Amino acid sequence: MTKQFACKDIGLQCGFEATAESEDELMAKVAEHAKAAHNMQQIDEATAAKVKAAIKDVPAAESAAPQAPQ
Ligand SMILES: [Zn+2]
Repeated sequence: MTKQFACKDIGLQCGFEATAESEDELMAKVAEHAKAAHNMQQIDEATAAKVKAAIKDVPAAESAAPQAPQ
């Protein structure tokens, strides 16, 4: 199952979305983005918990979820 995360899912005004094959891989991508785009040198525990809660399982072929309801 593909994992998906979008910054807007945790209330950030940001169009970033990432998908990965595992939560660990996704968290690594999110950490990299957070550092580059949000000046977050490290994701703190509270933010990590928010990110993990916002991670969605998506079918691999629909990782962009074009018709997902808001
Ligand atoms: Zn972002």
